[in-house]
Amino acid sequence: MKIAALLRGVEIATRPIQPESKTALERRWAQLPDHAKTAGQLLGRAAVGCEGTHGVFPKCNLTCSPCYHSADANKVRIDGAHTIKGVTEQMEYLRSLRGPRAHAQLIGGEVSLLPAEDHAAALLAMRANGREPMSMTHGDFDYQYLLDVVLSPDGKPRFNKVSFAAHFDSMMRGRRGAVRPHSEAELNPFRARFADMFVALKRDHGVRSYIAHNMTVTPANLDQVTEVAQAVLDMPYDMLSFQPAAYIGDDRRWSGGFDAVSIDAVWSRIEAGAGHTIPWQGTQFGDPRCNRTAVTVTAGTRSAALLDPDDPRDLAARDRALAHFGGMIFGSTPTWIVAAKILRALLGHPGDIPHLLSFALRLMRRAGGLRTVASAAWKRRLSFKTFVVHNFMDATDVAPAWALMEQGGASDDPKIKETQERLGACMYTMSHPETGALVPACVQHSVLDAGENIGLRKMLPIRPLTHPPAFTDAAADPARPRTRKS
Ligand code: SF4
Repeated sequence: MKIAALLRGVEIATRPIQPESKTALERRWAQLPDHAKTAGQLLGRAAVGCEGTHGVFPKCNLTCSPCYHSADANKVRIDGAHTIKGVTEQMEYLRSLRGPRAHAQLIGGEVSLLPAEDHAAALLAMRANGREPMSMTHGDFDYQYLLDVVLSPDGKPRFNKVSFAAHFDSMMRGRRGAVRPHSEAELNPFRARFADMFVALKRDHGVRSYIAHNMTVTPANLDQVTEVAQAVLDMPYDMLSFQPAAYIGDDRRWSGGFDAVSIDAVWSRIEAGAGHTIPWQGTQFGDPRCNRTAVTVTAGTRSAALLDPDDPRDLAARDRALAHFGGMIFGSTPTWIVAAKILRALLGHPGDIPHLLSFALRLMRRAGGLRTVASAAWKRRLSFKTFVVHNFMDATDVAPAWALMEQGGASDDPKIKETQERLGACMYTMSHPETGALVPACVQHSVLDAGENIGLRKMLPIRPLTHPPAFTDAAADPARPRTRKS
């Protein structure tokens, strides 16, 4: 009986796609608007989309222009118990509606202001709900903080892999050592230092990482995207993500010309920095007006696109992979189970094997051939880089579009119609277990954050100073003016 139960357990664990994942993907696909149901669409076929937290630690200690958080965010106290409760509830709700697996961002303020133990507890709460968490930060913290998050008090790693995204751009004010940067290049040592912390983490403690570099793009730094991409590609980042600025969040931080920065303008500059084209048309993650994503493989000094959208054989391999392998869970899964899943999937669809093998051979040729790839792999210089441009929308369009959608209405106004189409195909979701709503991040920042922060200000007011009054005692030294000490 025990052996039968064991075999049954192994059979379920090694199923290529878990039934719950399959159901979640089918539901996601059914919810997509028709215009998003394309052959290259990943939502509903490989993933349910990204998720993010909100209202769990709104405060930040840098000043950015633009800033997508509400004007009140810095009037809310950081409170670990509130964070863990909020993260747990939001993730449980996402787990219940969107299935057992998704990538989720621990976001909504500056994550490194959380005490390290609370940060770790929030990550564990996300993982407990099948979420692969990514901590979103400005990156201005020390190695010791990272160690305190990743290691238990006994010094043992609590995670075998962590994922962080650090935001660096020259519109950020207050970074230690670069309080008011004048150019993007000035931030390169800080970008490198951040990435190096994760190299040290692997070397010192064996903890792997996935790290992303984020940058907001405005007319002020658009023409520096090329040099940033070039510089960051030489650093051990796994993802380069750029966000053209939008008029959302704190309107005190807006400036003119954001609309002039198009997704195409940013992408072409990234390609210039990479030194080659990065075709993105082979896959789609949501609506291409919102999000553009592509993966390249680098073997030593040679880089090539993972997928060539102009090659019908690559597209055929993509179609087979999405149809038969999409929804397979690899993260946090033992290697032998991943291998068994892949083997079972291949045995179930042996006709895929020649397509996938010929795709692998073409990819190897694009990356420089067998010798180049093998040599790069041997020297640990074989890597994959993901490029993303995420194009948030303006609050002035999102608010009326969402209001109509909530009433089941569709707009005839071309701009609002486009906004509704994009919101309908959104790939970045936030959850509201208290109301039962799942909302696009654009809606969260354009419509909901302000009201949410009013409530949070009352719930978590900034504490009055607990230190003795920071004024000199004028009575003791009447010759000195009454001044603040710091
Ligand atoms: S609707 Fe907004 S949050 Fe969703 S994918 Fe589009 S830009 Fe991103």
